Amino acid sequence: MIWTGDSPPHVPVYELSTDKVIDVIANMTTTIRTVFPNLQVFPALGNHDYWPQDQLPVVTSKVYNAVADLWKPWLDEEALHTLRKGGFYTQKVSPNLNLRIISLNTNLYYSPNIITLNETDPANQYEWLESILSTSQQNKEKVYIIAHIPVGYLPYSSSTTAMREFHNEKLINIFRKYSSVIVGQFYGHTHRDSMMVLSDEKGSPINSLFVAPAVTPVKSVLQKQTNNPGVRLFQYDPHDYKLLDMLQYYLNLTDANLKGESDWKLEYVLTQTYSIEDLQPESLYGLAKQFAVPGNEQFLKYYNYFFVSYDSSVICDGKCKAYQICAILSLDHSSYIDCLKQHYIKYHS
Ligand SMILES: [Zn+2]
Repeated sequence: MIWTGDSPPHVPVYELSTDKVIDVIANMTTTIRTVFPNLQVFPALGNHDYWPQDQLPVVTSKVYNAVADLWKPWLDEEALHTLRKGGFYTQKVSPNLNLRIISLNTNLYYSPNIITLNETDPANQYEWLESILSTSQQNKEKVYIIAHIPVGYLPYSSSTTAMREFHNEKLINIFRKYSSVIVGQFYGHTHRDSMMVLSDEKGSPINSLFVAPAVTPVKSVLQKQTNNPGVRLFQYDPHDYKLLDMLQYYLNLTDANLKGESDWKLEYVLTQTYSIEDLQPESLYGLAKQFAVPGNEQFLKYYNYFFVSYDSSVICDGKCKAYQICAILSLDHSSYIDCLKQHYIKYHS
């Protein structure tokens, strides 16, 4: 199981404390261990898994130590060591599989993190990441990247990366360099269901990335829509760990509140709903190109699933659609600007 973080409630800073944040993460850990006693779990820290929120540090801290203690049943000694030091780790999924998880602390690159302002390699995570990826390449391993804050551009606003743009460019370069090793990337944070396709400098698709919607609904002043709760299941090829399909489950919260009971259902199966072969970069790239065609019906589905089927009557065209398309197709600054220009928007900045 991949658990992409942010357990504490998104409330004002003064309503929480370091101890309260640790209590909430401990509660979640216990719940997951009780419900799935035999399951290997790989967590990643979120920007709310700290107090004050977003300010995850570059050195050891009470929270890093607490989560290392809590996650001992799942993680090995080496993983716990870097988790205590900087909130990130790597571990093979199991000793006999050639698949490795790298859990990044991308909160160190998050724009509101003041602690890491002006730092080019907070907690030396880039240096560490490159050495792990290089060793994986030599050992012919495959890697799944997991993290809370996603790379790339936010799909609901213009030209905004979730992490500082400097760090976004830096991570994209590393992911491009090791795209043959990385066979999947999994993120959270936005509470929305979205995907991204990383292309190389020449524009060829090389990596598939997935942002999972949250179990908790959220909405901001910019968005009238919220999300239904969602969890997902990925299917992969047991030989090369390539992603084959994704099953998205959801809870219709409006119905659940009316009936006073929860009824989780399958929302969609990715290959079936979009008639694509698998979740490989080429397939998703082709799909996104279809989305971009004016009036494309597949895109109507995508935008409905973006909010986990909260309200299918909302229309996204013009700028809204261009932001969505470019967030899927363009993860670095220069290709994103080109994409916006191409998709009917005159870019001003
Ligand atoms: Zn978050």
